[in-house]
Amino acid sequence: MAILSIITAPDRRLKVKSQPVEAVDEKIRGILDDMLETMYQAPGIGLSAVQVGIPKCLITVDVSPDDEDNAPLYLVNPKIVAFSDEMESYNEGCLSLPDQFADLDRPGEVTVEYLDYDAQPQQLRADGLLSRCIQHEMDHLKGRLFVDHLSAVKRGMILRKLEKIRRQKVSA
Ligand SMILES: [Zn+2]
Repeated sequence: MAILSIITAPDRRLKVKSQPVEAVDEKIRGILDDMLETMYQAPGIGLSAVQVGIPKCLITVDVSPDDEDNAPLYLVNPKIVAFSDEMESYNEGCLSLPDQFADLDRPGEVTVEYLDYDAQPQQLRADGLLSRCIQHEMDHLKGRLFVDHLSAVKRGMILRKLEKIRRQKVSA
């Protein structure tokens, strides 16, 4: 396993649309292993492959509160098949937008279909933080970031801030 480097916005690679994988083989499982390790190390509760420069429909999630009780989920080719009408607000962040947060409305509950680590088809009904996290990661597969849900003004502010931080790092 290996720790991969997470791409931070603004970066064109984060806007790439991810492609479904044809088979959950050893190579794909290797990517999922690396993604999970990278996510835990960050630390974060969700990661999409495109954030580590691999535009494939792969997501890792673990919303369990402590690391003694890891409950990783691997979602391959996920598809949301149902949403609740009820919206919930949550202060959302992203490993690709370090230290940036914004309140965002999303459906409270989703049902998602996907292939798991063993290539088995699964259906999962999620609410709360898990639902939030899955929807956030699935946006990444479409080349969308959480700031794309905000007004142009708010988005611009956050992205400019990140660009400035990056320039400071480069010149330091
Ligand atoms: Zn994210």
